[in-house]
Amino acid sequence: MQKTPFVTKELVEEIVKTYPTPFHIYDEKGIRQNALALKEAFAWNKGFKEYFAVKAAPNPFLLQILKECGCGCDCSSLTELMLSEAVGVIGNSIMFSSNDTPSEEYLYAAKLGAIINLDDITHIEFLEKTLGRLPETVCCRYNPGGTFSIANSIMDHPGQSKYGFTEAQLFEGFRMLKEKGVKNFGIHAFLASNTVTNEYYPALARQLFQLAVRLQRETGAHIAFINLSGGIGIPYRPDQEPNDIRLIGEKVRQVYEEILVPAGMGEVSLCTELGRFMTGPYGHLITKVIHQKHIHKEYLGVDACAANLMRPAMYGAYHHITVLGKEEAPCDHLYDVVGALCENNDKFAIDRRLPETFPGDLLVIHDTGAHGFSMGYNYNGRLLSSELLLREDGSVQLIRRAQQPRDYFATFDCFPIFEKLKG
Ligand SMILES: *Cc1c(COP(=O)(O)O)cnc(C)c1O
Repeated sequence: MQKTPFVTKELVEEIVKTYPTPFHIYDEKGIRQNALALKEAFAWNKGFKEYFAVKAAPNPFLLQILKECGCGCDCSSLTELMLSEAVGVIGNSIMFSSNDTPSEEYLYAAKLGAIINLDDITHIEFLEKTLGRLPETVCCRYNPGGTFSIANSIMDHPGQSKYGFTEAQLFEGFRMLKEKGVKNFGIHAFLASNTVTNEYYPALARQLFQLAVRLQRETGAHIAFINLSGGIGIPYRPDQEPNDIRLIGEKVRQVYEEILVPAGMGEVSLCTELGRFMTGPYGHLITKVIHQKHIHKEYLGVDACAANLMRPAMYGAYHHITVLGKEEAPCDHLYDVVGALCENNDKFAIDRRLPETFPGDLLVIHDTGAHGFSMGYNYNGRLLSSELLLREDGSVQLIRRAQQPRDYFATFDCFPIFEKLKG
């Protein structure tokens, strides 16, 4: 499938008159349509709710849009809780799915009335000590260990992951929590990431539903919800088939009817904590080619770098690139597209076939709407870009200004750097 940007060359040329490159831009219409499609796919489940994984795109303007589409927030740190609070997403619209959690963060989450998702059996006492008493509703994260695979399409290694309770700990933990007065229980698991297959959620649901039936029977705990967490992926590569969320919802419904309903658990709510699926395809990193270099290979130097999008450098991740205005030109040149970090892994693409490209050309780096800007960092003193929103009416709004040197230096209160800079 061809990957088409949601912006045109004309629009970007207009935008850069006000907001210079590099910047991330998000497509409000795409985000809304996709969020509503998810909601419809699970509408058969009365209590269904998506808790957007804030770490994927921690911008209050985006959280506000998702809130309007009925989403809550999945948070895992103090500042994520604060962001959620700032857009009025509080109470049981927050799922606090943290791990290795400091007590101040549990306190803040409890103050907001968030649903707390415990990552470990020892956190039961830790939380009780921190809060004075346990909340009425508690979720526990499950780690089955071993490997998780589906018909050789995906494979992950829960046995190597730091998260969650073992199965035995989950049974013991539920008994402890029940004794301590907890009334409503949730189960959560995140077993594979960026799954581009319609089989992941149904397979995960089967495991969790079977476990839920046994847990309720054996511990007497009332299971109120099952949290399928994140992990539904997006087609970063043009040859990948996107997930069909309607089909995923329908397949999960079949497993629900098969396992939970006969066990008398037809009231259990489902929830999700999707991040990548919610915003990933609806973000672009727009960057300008500023240099071209020919040595042992052919390089295009752009004005963005890994500080603006870390995934290629960190995971070797593929992000598709479109040269604006050359969408129809043959891809008959081979380039490495690189940023300015003094790190040789600062490459958005290696040996990428593109149309012939020159300094001044504007590039769209696709699928940066999740785990893109948010993974940014300041190595080499490189500054974070602005974030823009393409509104449904076609207008463009600044939703985060670009970092300035003064922001980078702001934490040097202990060194009179500003006076020195002013000369
Ligand atoms: C990162 C994360 C998510 C979101 O994952 P995606 O792959 O973006 O869907 C959801 N829940 C938890 C606990 C996470 O850590």
